[in-house]
Amino acid sequence: MMKFARLESERKLKALPTGTGRPEVAYDVVDIPGKEKGAVAARLIRRGEEVMRAAPLIMVDDAAVGGLGRKELGVLIHEAVQGLLESGMGRYYRDLAGGNVQATTGEQKDMQVFAKNAFKVRVRGLGENGGERMFHTVFHEVSRVNHDCSPNMGYYFDQESLTQKVVAARDIHPHEEMTIGYVDLSQPSMARQQLLNESWGFACTCHRCTLPPAQQKEADSRASQIQRLLEQLDDYSSAEPLPEMAELLITLYELEGLRVRIYEAYYRAALEWNGAGSSVKATNYARLCLDSGLMLRSDDSPFLDSMMKLVQSPQQHWSWKFRIALVEKGGSGP
Ligand SMILES: [Zn+2]
Repeated sequence: MMKFARLESERKLKALPTGTGRPEVAYDVVDIPGKEKGAVAARLIRRGEEVMRAAPLIMVDDAAVGGLGRKELGVLIHEAVQGLLESGMGRYYRDLAGGNVQATTGEQKDMQVFAKNAFKVRVRGLGENGGERMFHTVFHEVSRVNHDCSPNMGYYFDQESLTQKVVAARDIHPHEEMTIGYVDLSQPSMARQQLLNESWGFACTCHRCTLPPAQQKEADSRASQIQRLLEQLDDYSSAEPLPEMAELLITLYELEGLRVRIYEAYYRAALEWNGAGSSVKATNYARLCLDSGLMLRSDDSPFLDSMMKLVQSPQQHWSWKFRIALVEKGGSGP
């Protein structure tokens, strides 16, 4: 049986809101064999439960990350960590280093923690003309959560509270490791492995990445088909209704364990059935899209707004018979 070493000092941090008002600690940060530290469920966590809500420890403008040399960036980050130390938050940042950072100076160490743990987030209203601006951000809690190509939690950056929200995409059982996806999970295993190695410096050993050869081949073929289907379905200029393809996309997402993104497939199925003039089927998939979409994404996401409109009145939605209308107008399809 796997043995997890409990870190009492970190356990205290978990008295954060769990979204249900229940006082029990939701998870522990423990040593995980072969993976440094990770989060494991301390009790049953229900699908849809908000497990973490993390404020950023450090945010660095994307332009600074791209424009500054590594040394200058190191100095900038080191200064930010010094500021955190003064406010009593610095140890959370330094904790992330674990035992695996080999650096001689404080700048190098802080830089390595940053490179290993930063997530990219978009913040509205800070860019040119009030547009979006990209930041590389380190969140203490979220940075403790390991990657899996079929993760059991989703996360998004909440623009209102400027926090990273992490939500269980399915029930998570006590002692089960809690995971999120660091890269685009719909890609074949080779592409995922390459990205994970380049950006985070590790080889993924999750279930999807360690299948027997024949199953791996089939899984990679499914992932490639997902990419092709998304391209086809997102081409609204074709006059051919594609509801069966959208349903195939749902099957492929399910088989690949992409429950954190399943709403993307439901969204396409809702549009395609509506595009073909079937309001009942369209409403069915719009409901499914809203169920997981409202759970895993910020509720002001435009696609959710669109699905709410479709549910209210499929015939008034922009997608109503849109593929058929293209045929009537002599569109480009067959
Ligand atoms: Zn993997």
